[in-house]
This record gives sequence, C-alpha cells and structure tokens, in this order.
Amino acid sequence: MYIKSIAASIVVGQTLVSAATNVQDYWKSFNSTTDPLNITLPSIQQTTSNDPTTECVNYETPAQFKYDSTQWPTMWETATSNGMNTSAEFTALYNSIKWTDMPNIPVRTLGSDGALNMTGYDEANDPDCWWSASTCTKPKHQNVNEDIYQCAEPETWGLTYDDGPNCSHNAFYDYLEQQKLTASMFYIGSNVINWPYGAMRGIKDGHHIADHTWSHQLMTTLTNQEVLAELYYTQKAIKLVTGITPLHWRPAFGDVDDRVRWIATQLGLTTILWSEDTDDWAAGVNEPLATVQQNYDDFIQMGSNGTMSTHGNIVLTHEINNMTMSLAVKNIPNIQKNYKHVIDVATCMNISHPYQETTIKFPSFDEYVSGKTSSTGGNSSSGSGSGSSNSSDSAGTSAGVKSLPTNGLAVAIALTILAALV
Ligand SMILES: [Zn+2]
Repeated sequence: MYIKSIAASIVVGQTLVSAATNVQDYWKSFNSTTDPLNITLPSIQQTTSNDPTTECVNYETPAQFKYDSTQWPTMWETATSNGMNTSAEFTALYNSIKWTDMPNIPVRTLGSDGALNMTGYDEANDPDCWWSASTCTKPKHQNVNEDIYQCAEPETWGLTYDDGPNCSHNAFYDYLEQQKLTASMFYIGSNVINWPYGAMRGIKDGHHIADHTWSHQLMTTLTNQEVLAELYYTQKAIKLVTGITPLHWRPAFGDVDDRVRWIATQLGLTTILWSEDTDDWAAGVNEPLATVQQNYDDFIQMGSNGTMSTHGNIVLTHEINNMTMSLAVKNIPNIQKNYKHVIDVATCMNISHPYQETTIKFPSFDEYVSGKTSSTGGNSSSGSGSGSSNSSDSAGTSAGVKSLPTNGLAVAIALTILAALV
C-alpha cells in the first residue's frame, strides 16, 4: 500500500517536474514522511549502543524508508546505475535543464596511475576554476554559485565532517551533543539509505546536513548526466530520511570545476570546500598518526597566533571511522581553547535557511553568539544546538547536558579502524 502511494506521488512529481519552468522546483516532488522538527529514533541497539560492532549490525529498514531497489541507483555505484539515467523522473529533470547555458568544459580523464589527468590543461591560469588544479573557489564562468571555503567570522573554526552517516558514530554524536556543538555533516547518499537512523540523528541534533554525492567519485571525471544523478539521488535520499533537502554539497576529494558547479547550481546547491585539511582519514593508513596530529596542532595554533584575526577557517575532517572520530574528540577541547567560536558552516556564514524547506531556521551568527554569552555556565562551547528548532531565538542554553556514558569516550578513542572508503 505504501509502495502504491510512493508510485502515485512519483507520478505527480514527474508531472510537476516536467511542467516546471524552473528546474529548481525539483525537490518539491520528493517523497518523505519525516518531520525534521519532530524526530524520534527507535530505542534499538544500533541507536543506543556505543560499541561499534553492535551499532553496525544491519537493521530492518523501517517501512517508511523501505528500500525499493527499482527506485534507486545501485549502492556505491555511479548514480546512473540500475537504469536511473533513463527513469521518467530523471529524464524529466534532465530535460528541464537548459544545457546549452552550461560552461563548455570537457569531462576530465584519469591517467594510468588513477590520478586526474591534467595533460594539456592550463593549470597556471586555471580557466575552468578547477579546484584540483589550483584550489580555485571563485568561478570563472557565469551563473555558477561561488564556493564557500572559510568562515567569514574571525577566530571561528568551521566544524565539518565528511562521509557519514557512519554506523558507529553514536559516541561521537553524543560527545558533540554534550558539548552543544553543531557541525556541517556531508552525507553520502548510499550511507543515508543504508543507515537512515544515523542521518536522522544528524538532523535531530541540529547539525547542518549537506550532500556528499551518491558514490563518492571524482566528479569532474563524470558525464553531465552522471554528475546530475550523483547529486539528485543523494538529495532525494536525504529528503526521504530526514525530511530536508540540502542547499549545500561538497565534492569528494574537492574535485570540482565550473561545469560541475554549474550542474550543482541547477539543483540549488552551493559548494562548500575547506581552508584546512587535517588528512585525518589517512592517519595510520598512509600517513603516520603523528603527522595528522601535527596538522591539527598547526590549525589549532592559528586560532591564537593572529592568523584568524580577520576571518575564520573551515576544516576538513571525517566521520569515516572510529579513528577519525576519536581524533576529533581528542582535539575538540584544544580547538575550543584556541578559537572563540566552533560552529557549523551555516551558522558561521549567517545562512539562516540551509535547506529548501524554510520551516527550519538556523541562528544568525549574532544570535548564536548572544546565546553563548547568556549561557549560565559561561562555557565557551555552548553552541546553538538549534538547527532543528523553528524558533528564531533558539540558542539552546536550556538544553540539558547529556552525560556521556562512562565507556563512551573510551570506545570513541579506541582505534577501531573500519574499512576505509576514501
Ligand atoms: Zn568524502
């Protein structure tokens, strides 16, 4: 019966998409029964345990998120897989885009070593604002949303975590909640479908949820259709599970140029990159842990040595496994000591509405700061925690501090390296 209702809404959705003159209305046809302002997670071991093995036991997907494999790309494959590039829904979307306006930029290729092939490309002038060539963030073509790569506010650490929702993130999210910290969370579509409660926890906790593509590939090497599908089906997955449609995304490996940006812009998406990269995912894999810790230490120092006196940063870190999450937990106290503000990118950039659904309002930076200063504890870490509140003055000073289970931190710090996907 539910499948029928989905089918009905998809038919309605297709009509809307095909009839729409503005491609940016695409999200209105998405299906979701989740109210992002009223999320209750079931009390099962996967949502309550802090033991990574227990948390990562597969669970029966609830009826409202029933994974109908005919409606989605194959997990972890390019999002045009499973015939998704020819579905009526996707075809209507594709045809609603005026592709002749797209910057004329070729699809990139990979060299025999598997790295991006830059042969023949003018890296010095970087005419296509290809981040992988010159870390360019200001588009050189028209009608392309400009990237966000650092927080505008001084002495502010922009907290971002990629590659979630990770099934073993309970202790980490508990820690952020306890510290009243909100982060920008870049979720991979395949993970959202696999671990819907993990994504729901993110929106419930007031984090800023953003799109990190369906299958985490080098986006400039994908065709127009593939780029569109990677973003579209991740938007659809996030909406289905959390009830919101992101307005921000981050390319895997930062690989974006003006062609990819232009396609993202069609979906209303703005690219968020970073100003500092911890390389945390590589710690103990292809970089010594000490090197990654030194990266953290260097970036932390910038908060108190004057580097951040006129602007803030955005730091690339991951929730990819317990190793990266334990590094985050280990370093956050020192980050808080050296920076005035530690906050998600939406708040530090004064983006009150980071989702298509305007029912969700984030605090302005001033509202966030005044919430901090009015905190009775005088604690420098009383973040807004208000991303999922509909109140405009919602700095969460009254939220109870949830105590971390005694073994939670130990588990988070345990270097349990799960299969890395980067
Ligand atoms: Zn990633």
